[in-house]
Parts: sequence; C-alpha cells; structure tokens
Amino acid sequence: MPDSPATRLVHAGRPPAVPGGPLNPSVELSSTFHAGTGPDGLADPAVRNYARVGTSTWEALEAAVGELEGGEAVLLGSGIAAVTAAVEVALAHAGGSTRVVVPARAYSGTVALLRHLRDTRGVDVVAVDPAEPGALARAAAVPGTGLVWLETPVNPTMELTDVREVVAAAAPGALVAVDGTFATPLLQNPLALGAHVVVHSLTKAVAGHSDVLLGAAVAADPALATALREHRTRTGAVPGPFEAWLALRGLRTLDVRLQRAQATAGLVARRAQEHPAVLRVRYPGLPEDPWHAVAQAQMRGPGTLLALDLPDAASAERVAASTRLWVHATSLGGVESLLERRRRHAAEPEAVPEGLLRLSVGIEDAEDLWADLAQALDGATRTAR
Ligand SMILES: *Cc1c(COP(=O)(O)O)cnc(C)c1O
Repeated sequence: MPDSPATRLVHAGRPPAVPGGPLNPSVELSSTFHAGTGPDGLADPAVRNYARVGTSTWEALEAAVGELEGGEAVLLGSGIAAVTAAVEVALAHAGGSTRVVVPARAYSGTVALLRHLRDTRGVDVVAVDPAEPGALARAAAVPGTGLVWLETPVNPTMELTDVREVVAAAAPGALVAVDGTFATPLLQNPLALGAHVVVHSLTKAVAGHSDVLLGAAVAADPALATALREHRTRTGAVPGPFEAWLALRGLRTLDVRLQRAQATAGLVARRAQEHPAVLRVRYPGLPEDPWHAVAQAQMRGPGTLLALDLPDAASAERVAASTRLWVHATSLGGVESLLERRRRHAAEPEAVPEGLLRLSVGIEDAEDLWADLAQALDGATRTAR
C-alpha cells in the first residue's frame, strides 16, 4: 500500500541518504556551475550550467509537489507566474485556437491577466458564471476551445467546479487547467480528475507562514511539463532558492496545519450561520452549501477558507476593522487568521458581492477565534439597527 500524502510530504524531496549527508536540501546560492562538455565537444545539455534553468533547491520542492499532485512540477516565482506559464503554454499548444473559457469569478490577478490578453492579443475570453450548474462544461464543449481555465474552490466566492464533468465535455484538443490553490495538493488532485495542468500559489497554505512568494505548475504529460519549464527559462519567472527552501519547510507541516485550521473553519462556518449579522456563509463543508456534494466527490476536505456575506460594504469593513486576533490583511493560508472585504480592491471582479468578507483560518485556538469574530459581528449588528 502506498504511503498516505501526510507521510509522503514529510519524506519527499530529501537528498539521498548517505552517511554524514544532510537530511535537508541546502539553499543552493550559485548563479553558475562548472561546465560540462558532451561527446560532441559542446556544452552538455544534461549538465546544469546556469541557475535560471534549475537549482537543486528548486528540484527538491518540485519533487515533493510533483509527488503529491501525481505529475511533474515546475516551480515559478509566484502563483501568478505559474498561472501565466500555464495560460501561455496552453495558448501555444492550441496552435492558433485562442478561445479561452474562464469562470466569471476567479482570483483577481488571473482575471486581470486574461483581460490583458484579450485587449492586447485578441484572445477570445469567454467568461462563464461558475455558480450555474453545467455552464462551464457546456462552454468547454464548443469546438475551437483551446483552454478551459478552472479555479476550484473559487477565490473568494467559494464556488466549486466538477472537474471530471468539464474534462469529459471539453472540445477535442482543449487543455483543462485548474487553479487548486484553495485546496492545496493535500485536499484535491486535479490531474487525477483528468485535468492537464494544475497550478498553485505556494505563497499560501503550502509555504504557510506569510513570508514567501512562490508558485508551481504541474502536468502529468512530460511534454507539457517540458513546455512549462522552457517557458520559465525563456521568460525568467524564476523563484529564489531561499523561497523554495522555505516553502519545502512549510510543506512538511501542511497536513497538521490543515487539519487544525479546517476543523476551526467548520466551527466558525456553523456558528456564523446562526449570527444575525450574516446573510450567508459560503463553505463547502456545510451540508446546506450548494457545492457540498461536489466537495465530497472530488476533495478530501472542505479546506480552511470561507466567506461571509454581510449586508453591505460598510458593515463588512466594520467587522474587518474590529477584530483583535483576525488580522485585517490580504492573502491567505498562513498560520495566522486573516480577513478581508475583497471588493475593497478596485481589481476585484464586480461579480463578487460588496459585503463579502473572505476569512482565512489559521492555527490559533478555535474558541479564541470564534469569540473574537463574534464580538466583531455583534458590533456590526448593533450599528445596523
Ligand atoms: C494568491 C492566489 C494566486 C496568485 O498567487 P501569488 O503567489 O500571489 O502570485 C493565484 N490563484 C489563487 C487562487 C490565489 O489565491
């Protein structure tokens, strides 16, 4: 029986066990390497010669992420660099077909990138409501589609997409790419569901301590992985070795951090449902959630993120400003709990409600977190009356 992911992430990506050798990869700080010469007298392509092409520190994290996702991982300098790599490689793969299907709500940086490609390169970007059952699959089936972009769960509106359904419906030749950042490689494996590429912002739960920017794109098809790696070398969207080392260190504890934060997220979601200031709780772990069944079918757990709909922007801002433990800040997935009204950013898609608060649950004590959130919500209720 293969080891479970919780075990594998502790042991993956370690250097060979040799007497006196270190357990951990080192931070390889070298931009260049001693030259290797092939039988033809030219530079040996199998010998690393420059750090834009690869470093042993990247490779340790790539081995670990690739093992967890069931593919070949390519590290990039940020999550959005990984998104860009996947989109560019898919557009090149489509060989002229430029129809791209995307959810109308997704990470704001992804929406901005695709809008830019539409405006500057004429890419035909078709935005589909991710909350409408079957709509993404229907759009993916249209002949001439080159790329189907999925994000599941969606940041920040917590809609899920049935990846298998979209893969089965997609037009011949279309690549299906999934941004799996919210689920992490522990809770969901899109390649096993039939997707061609999965991307992660490792900045979030994988690194886990709000101190690193990093991304990865993972493909099961070696040709696709090579294309992603060549894109990285060509465009220079490379990570620093220290960032890769920190993220691998973060990955070692991902399972315990997730278990704790996920349990707290469930508790917060259930109690927030009962609070009079909250119109709606968005969390796929709730049996009432419209995405509960999809989560059960394709995820190992509902995750550590949730969203609360408050009546308006002012009450949501008031809650965000009156917590003591929950830090009012952007980003997610760190050990500390964060909250934010997403529409405070001009770049956030207008399809996200003004009063939506995104909550990233950390590893603090669950009752402490609930008490702090409850007093902030109480304040919002009193002011509204
Ligand atoms: C944060 C995030 C990104 C972008 O990652 P960076 O590391 O900030 O560049 C992409 N997708 C999702 C879902 C995210 O939450």
